[in-house]
Parts: sequence; structure tokens; C-alpha cells
Amino acid sequence: MICITCMRPVDSLYTVYSNDHIQLTDCPYCQETVDKYVEIDNVLLFIDLLLLKAGAYRHLVFNALELHLSKYPKRKALNDCQCLRDYTQALLFNVKNWFCKYDRLNRLWLLLLSFEIYLTWVTEESKYIYYLNRNNNDGKLIMLSKKLPESFKWDSAIMRNTITSKVFTWSPPIQYLYFASYCILDVSLFHTFTQYFILKKLHWKHYSVSSKDVISYTILLSYGAKIFPILMLIWPYDTLISMSIIKWVANLYIIESLKIVTNLSYWNIIKIFISVSLLRYFMVKPILIVFVAKFNFSVIKNLIHQEFILLLQKSGTYLLL
Ligand SMILES: [Zn+2]
Repeated sequence: MICITCMRPVDSLYTVYSNDHIQLTDCPYCQETVDKYVEIDNVLLFIDLLLLKAGAYRHLVFNALELHLSKYPKRKALNDCQCLRDYTQALLFNVKNWFCKYDRLNRLWLLLLSFEIYLTWVTEESKYIYYLNRNNNDGKLIMLSKKLPESFKWDSAIMRNTITSKVFTWSPPIQYLYFASYCILDVSLFHTFTQYFILKKLHWKHYSVSSKDVISYTILLSYGAKIFPILMLIWPYDTLISMSIIKWVANLYIIESLKIVTNLSYWNIIKIFISVSLLRYFMVKPILIVFVAKFNFSVIKNLIHQEFILLLQKSGTYLLL
């Protein structure tokens, strides 16, 4: 347990008296209430999360998580098992325990991932149509593009040879499978690399709850910013502009929530975020290209070349605008 204001360890969050009267504990270090969110209902807690209130994040990530995880037994050590039977029983126990322990978190991940898959699918489709119909005479691009090398000039024909154009020739269920793999891979890499950089490179550690669980839960909560569009059903949320706004808002939430929870400097968090984003960008699509090309080397080479040209053209456009 920690105080959500000064983040110092405390023994308890509240005291229960004989007449069921509950009194919240005051922090011996900063004199504030240790965790006022114990008494606040979930709707207000959710609003405070959206408003990026530090206390709300610390309550959920440290105190509520510790309380929830402490209800379940610890995992059994497999090294101590004498025979195969013991080993199998311990393994089954650990798997069952893991599913019960992380049931609520896994459900939340499933909800966020299904939403993420839909948004990615719509974004890619809109981008594909937009870039396919775009021509070289678009606005400011005309005058300045003459100074650029040929590969920077916009050529909409390039879109017909990319991995996206290949995917959109498939049936909708297979397309869904592709975007589901894309999102699962992307989120897993984001998760793994962020944990690696914060825990192994910056040696950040939390004394009571597992530090890995803390980072994982923080990422999950900040991903919740993507649920914003659900609240805005009355507006068209699946347009290119609103989706890029949501993406940037979600990125800000991730940076701010990691800062709130780990107390590391903004500079360190931003460095980690940029490194992880670059790693994701250069890993997710190439891995999927290998599978889409069915391990055929010449097809892989061609698709990667097309993606590179597309990247050059896009960066050329951004440089001009
Ligand atoms: Zn305090």
C-alpha cells in the first residue's frame, strides 16, 4: 500500500471500527488522506482517470491491484517438483491461478483490443482509398515537389503494390484476422519493450506489487483513452482526422500515466516512448509481410521495397506541408 500523494509506503488505507464505521488513514509523511479513492465510486474514478488525476492512477495501479492480487495464492515453484505428476499438478495449478488472478485484466484487454482492431481496420481502409485517389497536383505539393527527387513525388500507383492492397483483396474474415494479428503483435511489442526499458534499463522497481504488473496495468489504463470514441457515438469518430486525434490523445495519456506511476522524468519517459514506437514501426509490418508473402524471399523483398518507397513519398509530402 502507498500514499497516493507522496507515494511512500503505508501500513493500511483505512480502519474499521466495531460499529462498521470506516475512517480513512492520514499519511504520517505528507498529512494528506492516504487514499481517498477507497470511498469514491467507480464512475467518479473513471472520470478522474480520463482527467489524468495522479491519485486515481496510483489508487488503481498500486493499492487496488495489490489488494486484488493478494486474494490469490502465489505460483508454485516448478523446480521443487520431484516427479512428473507433481510437476504437471503444479503447472496446472499455476495456469488456473493465472487465469483467475488476471481474469478482470484479461477481459479489459480483450475489450480494448477488439476496439483497436476495428479502428485500425477502418483507418487503413480510409488511408488506402485516400492515397489511391490522391494525385500529384494536390495543393502546396505542386510548386515545391519540383525540387524533390523522383522518389519523393506522389505516385498513387504505388498503393496498388503494397501489403495493404494485397490484404484488401481478401475476404472480410481473413482481413479481420490480419488486422487482429497486427494489433496483437503491436500491443505485445509495445508492452514488452516498455517493460524492458523501464525495468531493465532504468532499473525502476516497486517494493510490494510486481513491477511488471504495475507497468502492464498502467499501459492498459492509458489505452482506455481509446474508449473515448465509444462515448462519442453521436459524432462520426471513424474519420481520418478524428482517428489521428484519438491516436495522439492516447499517446499523451500513455506518457503522462507512465510518468505519474513511475515518477521518472518526462525526458526518460519520452525517450522510451520514441524508442518503443520506432521499434514497433520497423518490426510489426515486416513480420506480417513475411507471413503474407508466405516466406517467399522475392515477394518479401518486393513488398518491403514498396513500403519503403511509400514511406519516402509520405515523408516528402509531410516535409512540404
Ligand atoms: Zn503521503
